[in-house]
Amino acid sequence: MNLSAGLPFWLIKNGLPFDYPKLEKSTKTEVTILGGGISGALIAYHLINAGISCLVADSRSIGLGSTCSSTSLLQYEIDTSLHELADKVGYRNAVRSYELCSQAIDKLQQIAGKINFPDIQHKKSLYYAAYKKDKAFIKKEFAIRKENGFSVRWLDENSLHKLYGFIAPGAILSEQGGQTDAYTFAHALHQYSIKKGLRVYDRTKIVSIKHAKNGIILKTENGSVIKTKKLVYATGYEVVEFIDKKLVDLKSTYAIISEQINGTGNFWKDNSLIWNTADPYLYLRTTNDKRIIVGGRDEAFTHPAHRDNLIKKKTTQLVNDFNKIFPGISFNPEFSWAGTFGSTADGLPFIGAYKKRPDSFFSLGFGGNGITFSLIAAGIITDLIRDKKNKDAALFSRHPIFYNPWQGTLYSGKNSPVSSPVKRYFINTTLIFSPIYWKAGASIVL
Ligand SMILES: Cc1cc2nc3c(=O)[nH]c(=O)nc-3n(C[C@H](O)[C@H](O)[C@H](O)COP(=O)(O)OP(=O)(O)OC[C@H]3O[C@@H](n4cnc5c(N)ncnc54)[C@H](O)[C@@H]3O)c2cc1C
Repeated sequence: MNLSAGLPFWLIKNGLPFDYPKLEKSTKTEVTILGGGISGALIAYHLINAGISCLVADSRSIGLGSTCSSTSLLQYEIDTSLHELADKVGYRNAVRSYELCSQAIDKLQQIAGKINFPDIQHKKSLYYAAYKKDKAFIKKEFAIRKENGFSVRWLDENSLHKLYGFIAPGAILSEQGGQTDAYTFAHALHQYSIKKGLRVYDRTKIVSIKHAKNGIILKTENGSVIKTKKLVYATGYEVVEFIDKKLVDLKSTYAIISEQINGTGNFWKDNSLIWNTADPYLYLRTTNDKRIIVGGRDEAFTHPAHRDNLIKKKTTQLVNDFNKIFPGISFNPEFSWAGTFGSTADGLPFIGAYKKRPDSFFSLGFGGNGITFSLIAAGIITDLIRDKKNKDAALFSRHPIFYNPWQGTLYSGKNSPVSSPVKRYFINTTLIFSPIYWKAGASIVL
């Protein structure tokens, strides 16, 4: 799949910071992680720290999937607002999802500290009403967040103008947020984990996956074989090539970055992350080297040629969008890029064990919070692999293709797929003792 085009800033800035070998001979491992982007890197970091031997295989050079295109905002606020998410998945589950994303930002900062990765910063996040008609929506959103202990402040039109210098009908200012460079972060994670025993192979495409009695046999493009006990799919949007059920809506998105701007680099209050209620939403962030990133203007198609033809037009539109908010800042775009982007019906990621094939786990952090979702996935999948109970796992394995041994722990909301505890117990028990579930043998050839 063609995942991005143009000149993604982090790739331009950091190039190929490390070399990784191709897998050229057959090997064995406990866990194989398919994909070495930010999701694969975080899973490998968790597994290696848990003492589990693993390797990463990626068909591209490391980070050249979606990870290098990411604008790398770290937000607890997912693409679906909390009050709408509560309607979709139940109140408690929605609040818990937001809490987990908030904790993920702190955890990412802790991990960065541990591996000495410097490019991660805490930032406040400003979510403003793009139109007058959105004021009631955003007020409702403020109320539910406040009610659930999120550190938020309501800004009316006047206070928003006073603090940020632009006019909008109202905004939520959240204390929690962050920003990073997911591309270099993924490399830094791999470098740390390699020192602890991780093997990372890039330019190593897995073309065949067979489930046998004693494990899983993966074949690479050049015929090397990996024998593995467990397999984690951290394949980003290319997962659609492995699963026949529709999990994600793919679209195209655009981002631009300014030239370095003279001055202090303090562009607006606290250089907060800024985004809005428009659909598709507009978002802004700053960088340490005094630039501004603007993103959005999504299109509902993924055709690479159509997507890429629009980069020039989208650059102009995004500059205009920026100028409407901050006409006093001179924004000269230096690099622009486009990427494939995916979202789910409720905005939550899919994380879990695959029913169809034993010992197979998915980390699918779709949406604008891909990075925080990847961190959540790394924790849950590590627990699944270690058979350790994770009370949050059920939140993200809600699609029927996933199996979760702790399905009963959550989903008590009115929109729960399985609302009765008795039914849940029955389904889980039936599944666990079903010979069909445990029967290995099916094979897929990609
Ligand atoms: C323009 C843009 C802006 C974004 N902004 C943000 C943001 O601000 N904040 C945020 O949180 N998220 C953002 N995202 C989303 C975020 O970038 C993604 O969620 C994240 O990068 C996904 O990482 P990943 O490791 O799951 O996938 P990827 O980086 O795509 O890595 C998956 C890897 O799997 C490999 N692979 C696939 N199939 C095989 C195979 N058969 N054999 C071997 N390897 C295989 C691929 O080569 C690929 O490198 C943005 C995305 C885009 C495109």
